[in-house]
Amino acid sequence: MLDKVVIANRGEIALRILRACHTLGIKTVAVHSTVDRNLKHVGMADESVCIGPAPAAESYLSTPAIIAAAEVTDAQAIHPGYGFLSENADFAERVEQSGFIFIGPTAPVIRLMGDKVEAIKAMKAAGVPCVPGSGGPLGDDAATNAKIAREIGYPVIIKAAGGGGGRGMRVVHTEAHLNNAILTTKSEAKAAFNNDQVYMEKFLENPRHVEIQVLADGQGNAIHLGERDCSMQRRHQKVVEEAPAPGITPEQRAEIGRVCVDACIRIGYRGAGTFEFLYENGRFYFIEMNTRIQVEHPVTEMITGVDLVREQLLIASGEKLSIRQEDIQITGHAIECRINAEDPDTFMPSPGTIKRFLAAGGPGVRVDTHIYDGYRIPPNYDSMIGKLIVHGRDRETAIARMRIALAEMVVDGVKTNIPLQQRIMADGGFQAGGQNIHYLEKRIAEQREKGKGLRVEG
Ligand code: ADP
Repeated sequence: MLDKVVIANRGEIALRILRACHTLGIKTVAVHSTVDRNLKHVGMADESVCIGPAPAAESYLSTPAIIAAAEVTDAQAIHPGYGFLSENADFAERVEQSGFIFIGPTAPVIRLMGDKVEAIKAMKAAGVPCVPGSGGPLGDDAATNAKIAREIGYPVIIKAAGGGGGRGMRVVHTEAHLNNAILTTKSEAKAAFNNDQVYMEKFLENPRHVEIQVLADGQGNAIHLGERDCSMQRRHQKVVEEAPAPGITPEQRAEIGRVCVDACIRIGYRGAGTFEFLYENGRFYFIEMNTRIQVEHPVTEMITGVDLVREQLLIASGEKLSIRQEDIQITGHAIECRINAEDPDTFMPSPGTIKRFLAAGGPGVRVDTHIYDGYRIPPNYDSMIGKLIVHGRDRETAIARMRIALAEMVVDGVKTNIPLQQRIMADGGFQAGGQNIHYLEKRIAEQREKGKGLRVEG
């Protein structure tokens, strides 16, 4: 078992990792920037190290600073959380070369999944269903590219191999616009990702976002923990997540889950990971794999009873997976609302001091947050200040519990998106379930036109 772990992150996920470590009797080292001395987990960690000033580039993204912190505290392993360096293959490599354990997959696997063209090739070879597409990078010949697009069928989407965060993509509806779109995406990709490779996929018009959680020990064992529906998005950012996904049958779950498990074994995957799919007309289309713990992991924990971060730590300790596929039983329904310090109507970040925080509670309610009375949210990082997660015997119960929990939670001193989340929970379309990835933005735009925010229904 690991003895001491450096938590190379901040906020709610740093606290979440600390809790899992302490549950297993593992000592923790919090690393933080100068503006993050007052983070809740910093006070709870066995040791803490200031790794630099507020800008993430000089602290949470500084490989030397984080490795130095592991060295001076004599830690064994580094947990990257999500965001920051969590999917940086060079970081993982440097960590291991410096003699520490990187809590995640091996650097080559992270690198493979970070290159979308290579990732899709590997997934296709492993039998994972992908979006019909060029199957490789596009060349410079306009006639060949036009032929590929015609075969796929319009609309198509041009995507950068090195893209991420919803950037480096362009939808093309007609052949007249194809060549220009390819050239523009290429030059943008070169500037943004220093990689001008682009590829082409069929553009799915009304998909849902459904993703599969996996765990693999890198020793030939892997399981899946069912799916999550993360279709409630704004600007490609997830706002609400739930598990299981409305309308997915146990047979579909078992089938797509088995495909993902096989792929994990085939690529030598290690740790927790997520296969992201677009889901349309009853079919799954792989878009990318996230090689880390995700923000929305708690909804899976609530319906399976598995502590995913604990499993990450056990796998990193070199243990074989102790959970078998048949041990995974899905119970009830879970929903997560991301709580952001932002204006619920304009979405402008709202950093500042929390004057009063009252957490929600009651049966099936979980609050993952680092905020407390008097905590000052710095303006330097993501605006997410926590997650409200509920579990109930069915979706209706979960929604009812979420509505009560949102009403009960008080965050004074800054603006939050709690009113938006309340409107979503009260929205007839959300309550019906199974909406596509454009639904939330459409509803927000409709209501903005009427000048009153997302209307409350039901
Ligand atoms: P990133 O790594 O930038 O998040 P993804 O490949 O995950 O890129 O795609 C981001 C989002 O772009 C998806 O969630 C979806 O909304 C949209 N998208 C990507 N590929 C397609 C496609 N083939 N058809 C329709 N929408 C797509």
